[in-house]
Amino acid sequence: MQVFKFGGASVKDAEGVKNLVKILQQEKLINCVVVVSAMGKMTNAFEALVNAILYNPEEKKKAFNYIKNFHEEILSKLFDPSSQEYQTVNELLDELYIKIQQINSKDYDFVYDQIVGYGELLSTKIVSEYLNQSGVKNQWLDVRDCIKTDSTYRDANVLWEETEKNIQKNISIGKINIVQGFIAADEKRNTTTLGREGSDYTAGVFAYCLDAKNVTIWKDVAGVLNADPRAFKETKLLKKISYEEAIEMAFYGASVIHPKTIQPLQSKNISLFVRSFKNPKTQGTEVTRGAALEPMMPCFIVKKNQILVSIATKDFSFIVENNISEIFQLLHDFQLKTSLIQNSAISFSICVDNKFHQFDNFVEAIQSHYKVDFVKEVDLYTIRHFNTESIKEIELVGKPLLTQVNKETKQIVIKPSDSHKSNF
Ligand code: ADP
Ligand code: ASP
Ligand code: MG
Repeated sequence: MQVFKFGGASVKDAEGVKNLVKILQQEKLINCVVVVSAMGKMTNAFEALVNAILYNPEEKKKAFNYIKNFHEEILSKLFDPSSQEYQTVNELLDELYIKIQQINSKDYDFVYDQIVGYGELLSTKIVSEYLNQSGVKNQWLDVRDCIKTDSTYRDANVLWEETEKNIQKNISIGKINIVQGFIAADEKRNTTTLGREGSDYTAGVFAYCLDAKNVTIWKDVAGVLNADPRAFKETKLLKKISYEEAIEMAFYGASVIHPKTIQPLQSKNISLFVRSFKNPKTQGTEVTRGAALEPMMPCFIVKKNQILVSIATKDFSFIVENNISEIFQLLHDFQLKTSLIQNSAISFSICVDNKFHQFDNFVEAIQSHYKVDFVKEVDLYTIRHFNTESIKEIELVGKPLLTQVNKETKQIVIKPSDSHKSNF
């Protein structure tokens, strides 16, 4: 059994769907699970639809039509409008339309999961029907019959025992099984989601439960590179990396692999390949147990647009356990994610990601007890396997504000100069 995962970039248009089918044919897969995410940037479009449903009903129709037109354009390039395949996909769009009229919950996370997952339902129907039309037999499965989770909508936790049983029952050995990434179901059979970018994790869950031989995730890059190509001009392919290295890179923010993906694979020693759907004949990156980094070189990870916060007691007494516990409670209360922590006798520095836009409220709350300074719009660079040149290269980006080093890793918080300000 092999598991393939195709992300949004690989199925962003009709050409992408054709390319996916070509890859499956070239790889001569007969016993596999193929996990597919929503097409292109459709999950963002579904998020806009959810916002319209809950907060801006007059925008609902426009948001829905954008999604409908996007998929219909792809459909018209792949199928005859009078064909059964075209009708099958269209029925799903009709179902979505009815759902958005009927849904009456005001719980954002719940509504989000009931709506956003249509991106994956649509993409997998299109892929499955196009495979049928191309003469490639396959079985479309509703992943909600396979992956069971708790009811933490938008960030659901997999219930492994039940999931393993369901997967083993529903997946047909010796066939091409097409499933949705990212979505699952809770015990009431409401749709849940595994967190943004969660489809890589779906592939990991299937591989674990089926004792798969390997997992291949198909990306728009040559494999895992030594730096994010959106932030660095020159990048090199890492041919081999260990699970530990992949986990470290994902932890520090390398967005090429979802952080939760590796652990289920590592525990069963299942190899992960990251390959390019643009150049499917090339090898890409192999992630395995204990592999030495090949080639050995510094790897760069950048988290843009962070906030560096420095906290001291008002009377300049030492920062001790109870202060730290109080500070962390507030960080938790205001949903601030810390990406670096540094403690000295009288000050406590943290780099935070203001993903939920609650930073100003946090400052207001903490100011009553502590003296707080902060610098917004800083970038956090992490260099794994650093050497002198790699650090010099990063220091050209702007003014270093804080540095932290351990054996393999150096982190530098930088206020970027104007020419290096970019967001992605
Ligand atoms: P998917 O289509 O599966 O959703 P993503 O867009 O989530 O794919 O992930 C691929 C992207 O990850 C690449 O286009 C690249 O911009 C980014 N990326 C970040 N860090 C790295 C890295 N170290 N190596 C390769 N790609 C990286
Ligand atoms: N479609 C989902 C997202 O964009 C899941 C994924 O692509 O991995 O987050
Ligand atoms: Mg993605």
